[in-house]
Amino acid sequence: MTATIDALAAIVGAPHVLVHDLDAYANDWRKKYRGRPLAVVKPGSTEEVAAVVRLCHATGTAIVPQAGNTGLVGGGVPDASGAQVVVNVSRMNRVLAVDTTNNTMTVEAGCILQHLQETAAAHGRLFPLSLAAEGSCEIGGNISTNAGGVQVLRYGNTRELVLGLEVVLPSGEVWNGLKGLRKDNTGYDLKHLFIGAEGTLGIVTRAVVKLFPAPAATQTAFIGLGSAAGALRLLDHMKGALGERITAFELISAFSMNVLERFNPALRSPLAAPHAWYVLTDLADSRDALALAADVEAALGGALEAGIIDDVVLAKNEGEARRLWDLRETLPEAQIVDGRNIKHDVSIPISAIADFIAAVDAALEAAYPGVRPVNFGHVGDGNLHYNVTRPAAGYTEEAWMADESARVNRIVHDCVHRFNGSISAEHGLGQLKRDEIRRYKSETELGVMRAIKAALDPKGIMNPGKVI
Ligand code: FAD
Ligand code: ZN
Repeated sequence: MTATIDALAAIVGAPHVLVHDLDAYANDWRKKYRGRPLAVVKPGSTEEVAAVVRLCHATGTAIVPQAGNTGLVGGGVPDASGAQVVVNVSRMNRVLAVDTTNNTMTVEAGCILQHLQETAAAHGRLFPLSLAAEGSCEIGGNISTNAGGVQVLRYGNTRELVLGLEVVLPSGEVWNGLKGLRKDNTGYDLKHLFIGAEGTLGIVTRAVVKLFPAPAATQTAFIGLGSAAGALRLLDHMKGALGERITAFELISAFSMNVLERFNPALRSPLAAPHAWYVLTDLADSRDALALAADVEAALGGALEAGIIDDVVLAKNEGEARRLWDLRETLPEAQIVDGRNIKHDVSIPISAIADFIAAVDAALEAAYPGVRPVNFGHVGDGNLHYNVTRPAAGYTEEAWMADESARVNRIVHDCVHRFNGSISAEHGLGQLKRDEIRRYKSETELGVMRAIKAALDPKGIMNPGKVI
């Protein structure tokens, strides 16, 4: 063990091999998984990553790739064996090039997402990936989880934002696929194997990502309406009237708003009356601000007249827009007012979302009378955060989480499967859903995944125990 640590120190320098005070690297963000690494290694370059991986390959030492450690499924933390090496890429945090003609940016894996957004803005461009963890998650982690967030409707997932990758393979070889090409039909598109692989196929060290024109104008609206089906009608109506300019379309249930207000009384709906459902939507235009405002008012005015929505407020300035988004972004932490709940991050074809919500609500209510679903999400992408809080009476928080999680997951995930959905729209499988996924993917699909894993990582050293 000490021989391995000494050899790692010889590669990256002793100050960059950590063996004490490892909590920030050993435990996940939700403190659900608490591991014990042999060491945490922080390489400063691709060459150092490759040398570390070659050493681990030679000694059969398991590697856990890690970036910002904000992942929610235990994918980026080691097990408790004390034998796994965490390779944390946070020191590799340089933007290497910005090409405003090709509209691309070449970056190292440890760049914090917010830094990339700011760098793009400084060049009059937009890097559209945006999620609540953006102040600490890093692009290597975003790529490895194929992160989503609030602008997927307009710009796509991380997968759609990556043009090229550099990856250190489990053998220690470096694959340089750092091309900024929008067209390349020369066989298998390898980068897509590593995007969303959660660190099981190699360590992403650099990437070429896409940039877009910076929006010249934005509009934010908060809308009250009577049903989830109404939200889908509204989305259709807005797509017809406003087209590509819709960048975010978030659904929030009445109970989620109630949770928010109890968490912090300042976080209230800005609408005069309560509604069964709310939609928070953002629009952006790279040209004319006045035209955007007029089109949004006309579209939402039309939705009011047609009875699709019951009420709406438009943010008059950036501060008001910020306060509306605070409602949505505080929701994940606000749920704690009723104790911990059982979380699901699912996707359903958009057209089936309202029926799915009705079906899963009914199935849970039948099993647990008085159960309280906290339901919100990126409904413009068919992605719901469907979280299940225990009934007001009958269960302690501990009993709910420890004894009922498996049954609640089964009810929700079976319902997702019936609607031809996915049990993970954003967060991935990691350790949390590694076993659960075997119920929903075919043996054929799992077999192909295992074959790819075995081809790239025959010794099984790269993030073992995650995904498959
Ligand atoms: P880590 O947590 O460090 O790692 C995540 C996974 O990627 C692990 O399996 C790890 O082994 C692997 N990995 C990390 N770096 C590399 C690398 N260089 N090479 C290979 N594998 C690597 N996610 C969304 O998709 N949408 C959201 O809206 C969203 N909101 C969030 C809000 C909050 C408050 C929090 C805490 C998390 C949220 N997440 C969301 C989840 C999380 O932020 C994302 O999964 C993010 O992309 C993880 O990035 P990271 O740098 O923290 O990665
Ligand atoms: Zn989300």
